[in-house]
Amino acid sequence: MQNSSKSIEQVFREAYEIGLKAAPTGKVADYIPELAKADPNAFGICMLDAKGRSIALGSVETRFSIQSVGKVIILAAALEKLGFDETFSHVMMEPSGDSFNSILKLDTRDDRPFNPMINAGAIQTISLLSDKMSFGELLEFSRTLCGDPNISLDEKVYASEYQTGDRNRAIAYLLKSKGVMTADPERSVDLYFKMCSLAVNARSLAYLGLIIATGGVDPMTGRRLITEEHAETIRVIMFTCGMYDYSGKYSVRVGVPTKSGVGGGLCCAAKGPMGIGLYGPSLDNFGNSRGGVKAMEHISRELKLHMFDV
Ligand code: GLN
Repeated sequence: MQNSSKSIEQVFREAYEIGLKAAPTGKVADYIPELAKADPNAFGICMLDAKGRSIALGSVETRFSIQSVGKVIILAAALEKLGFDETFSHVMMEPSGDSFNSILKLDTRDDRPFNPMINAGAIQTISLLSDKMSFGELLEFSRTLCGDPNISLDEKVYASEYQTGDRNRAIAYLLKSKGVMTADPERSVDLYFKMCSLAVNARSLAYLGLIIATGGVDPMTGRRLITEEHAETIRVIMFTCGMYDYSGKYSVRVGVPTKSGVGGGLCCAAKGPMGIGLYGPSLDNFGNSRGGVKAMEHISRELKLHMFDV
């Protein structure tokens, strides 16, 4: 699989140095005030593979809020609970080309949100689950998918999210006005805020990436958590829509199914299979981890992880 004679450890070490150096050139999210408290220089990478190998560099144990990476878990829960047809009759699977919290196309192009990786799509998707799964059940599902029983709700982030979430409420009410959302908008955004406020670390995101990369089986327990078809759907949607309006360029440059969050997390489901979790709260203009993207460019190039590498 490798491009060069470098060991996988060396490639990750180089990527860590690249990410660490790039981190301070980004900007920590502050539109949710609690997120502004993150250390802009923090950076960490964790790699887990199906053979049980792991590499951990830098801030791998630091807890941060999952933010939009939780959209992957919301999609997985919807696919498993409702099935493919029901899920995608309420949300599309098209890249939006707009920023993650855009409301624009929702009112001008189609009543359904463009995809489950932007706010409108995730809020719609979680509304479908709101009378079928409690937050406690979604939290348990998140802990299982991330192989991390210590994931809990960060109450401060949740409160901050709740207080400043009017744009997300506007999205939910617009969806309701169009008859796309039939569940209670307040309950739906509340569940969404909670799913954004889960405290994870780079290792939890690597585990999530690994399960998606393996096709839905937990390699440590052998237990199937997501069907193979659903895992494939999730990988494709991460690939085409996971990095918001940077998804196209990221797919060309990195080519690994990845989901970002404004907490600074990246979850990558790579060939191998391999799960890579990154943490770097300094973001680029699209809301993606600056150091994380730079590190993934290096890892993908050196290890030939691009989906279309021949
Ligand atoms: N909670 C954030 C929001 O709704 C999630 C956005 C993100 O991570 N891009 O705005």
